[in-house]
Amino acid sequence: MDCLFCKIIAGEIPSKKVYEDEYCYAFEDIAPVAPVHILFVPKKHIKGACEINPENSQIVGKIYEAIAKVAAEKGLENGWRVVSNNGPDAGQTVFHLHFHLIGGRPLGVMVSEEK
Ligand code: AMP
Ligand code: ZN
Repeated sequence: MDCLFCKIIAGEIPSKKVYEDEYCYAFEDIAPVAPVHILFVPKKHIKGACEINPENSQIVGKIYEAIAKVAAEKGLENGWRVVSNNGPDAGQTVFHLHFHLIGGRPLGVMVSEEK
């Protein structure tokens, strides 16, 4: 399958690994928008949040456990944000489910006023 994040998980494309367990892989975003910007991806290919169902939804809890652990390790006690873009209107560019962990500065409003 021609999927960038599957290739990163397989080690075929280099990444700066931050965390890994049996369910998920986390690495630094190549274009960070804040001092901490880490992507958490399930090792199993899931296209996006739209494909979460009763058979695979436990992966989301596992990923959030990893996110909370890494956020604490990175010293983000002042706050952090998780973003998961789903589909073109949300700006999803890589169609393998992922969660952005963003922090290390005040993050402002969640969604711009743009219409
Ligand atoms: P999204 O736009 O929500 O689909 O997020 C995709 C993210 O992947 C963007 O923030 C990109 O900067 C990031 N990205 C794209 N290619 C790479 C790469 N090779 N290594 C790390 N992050 C990447
Ligand atoms: Zn994939």
